[in-house]
Amino acid sequence: MNKKLQQIVIFLGAPGSGKGTLSRLCEDRLGWKQLSTGDLCRHHIEHGTQLGKEIDLCIKSGKLVADSLIIEMVVQWLEEHAREYQTVILDGFPRTRVQAESFLNLTKTAFPDVALKVYQLIVPDQEIIERISTRVVCSNSNCQAIYSERKLGADWDDKRCVRCESSLIKRSDDAPEKIAVRLDNYYQHVKNLLDVYKEANIEIISIAASGSSERVFQAVNDHERMDA
Ligand code: ADP
Repeated sequence: MNKKLQQIVIFLGAPGSGKGTLSRLCEDRLGWKQLSTGDLCRHHIEHGTQLGKEIDLCIKSGKLVADSLIIEMVVQWLEEHAREYQTVILDGFPRTRVQAESFLNLTKTAFPDVALKVYQLIVPDQEIIERISTRVVCSNSNCQAIYSERKLGADWDDKRCVRCESSLIKRSDDAPEKIAVRLDNYYQHVKNLLDVYKEANIEIISIAASGSSERVFQAVNDHERMDA
């Protein structure tokens, strides 16, 4: 593939706000490419890399991984893959002011002509908690497709991933006491992130993301058509 990277789209939202599901819809229907730092972290853990060993405990307890490790991971991914796609989605990155500032500095030098925008997904906490506590994911770290117990039914652990046929599991950080830690992380950092984007004149599109993922995808798609 030899497409030139034209835009980087940041999906900003609390854990469980639907960034991952929306990313998969954008990949399937718009040809975008998702870079999920959470998926990358879990991939490193499953493959027992040095980085995976360093971040394992952090992830399981719902805490954020050190900025320097995450930034290194993202820079490496962008250097290797970004130019293969026209649009790259950042899902779960940047999550802190330091990450956002480093990322914007990087784009200024490495991708000066690439457009940046932020889609912020807004979902009430009650719905977030309900979604995460019923979330089920594909156990294959190359896939990590997202499902819901509510749709799969009580016998979800007898079912297989429709994408890759692997078994389905619950994420260890989706346990109720970890959800609170993760939501706190989000609210602690989101205002700083929005401030950094506003200062850099990056477009921020807020989307009410309760309800169906199809409706959220349509809102993004409509906005993209307007921008085209
Ligand atoms: P969620 O958005 O539902 O919390 P993710 O899969 O995006 O799930 O992230 C899972 C975990 O991976 C986070 O709780 C955190 O430990 C780690 N992580 C992912 N992205 C980042 C990041 N940008 N900065 C720090 N830690 C991260």
